[in-house]
Amino acid sequence: MERTPPPLTPGTLYLVATPIGNLEDITLRALRVLRDCDIVAAEDTRRTGQLLKHFEINKPMVSYFAFNEAKRSEEILERLQRGEKVALVTDAGTPGISDPGERVVRAAVMAGLRVETVPGPCALVAALTASGLPTDEFHFIGFLPHKSGQRRKQLEALKQFDGTLALYESPYRIEKLLTELNEVFPDRTIVLARELTKKFEEFLRGTSAELQAQVAKRSLKGEFVVLISGRREKIEKLAKDSE
Ligand code: SAM
Repeated sequence: MERTPPPLTPGTLYLVATPIGNLEDITLRALRVLRDCDIVAAEDTRRTGQLLKHFEINKPMVSYFAFNEAKRSEEILERLQRGEKVALVTDAGTPGISDPGERVVRAAVMAGLRVETVPGPCALVAALTASGLPTDEFHFIGFLPHKSGQRRKQLEALKQFDGTLALYESPYRIEKLLTELNEVFPDRTIVLARELTKKFEEFLRGTSAELQAQVAKRSLKGEFVVLISGRREKIEKLAKDSE
């Protein structure tokens, strides 16, 4: 365990995870990096500005989001080459996980520059670990495509996977997703992890048909991670039932 934290290393890209709802979920190291870096590259400077203000950090920011990733990656690389310490943050959670980050990290690695991770909240890990589903083997899909045919094709392909499946979904498509899951995975356990780390955090568990019935009774708002038990659990259940 590191006791006296060393100063930040010049020419380093720091990937800083930020809270996914609960502001207490920021690490001491994340705060130090945000305080001591030269510039913060943020997905949304207004949103990150609020976070920095909450922790009384005053730092110049540059925007880095999906549509300016290519151009901004080059600028960030130039800064790193000049010896600057750059902290990359997204709106919530871990940069690079269904969020901008991958591109600039790859470019920095290829250019032989230093990249350090400052780990912290990630909705995927929070949902999976508290879901009650197997965590030893899992497959993360991120967001499914929007088009029905493509979604269906991807879900069908995932039927063969033994471990737990995890995906992110917008609240506007949760009902649609449950209908699709009822067609493709009718007998699997589904866990809806909603509003993690926030006031109304909850885990809804059941088959997709059971969850559809629950969702029909009240409209579910907020952010969701959806988990689907893997093929292995089904096989083990069948074996147990036949004992
Ligand atoms: N990089 C982030 C991470 O590390 O989790 C994910 C960013 S992605 C653009 C946003 C999606 O993550 C949301 O649509 C939702 O599916 C999931 N998510 C983020 N925060 C969440 C929360 N507090 N509860 C449940 N799901 C959340």
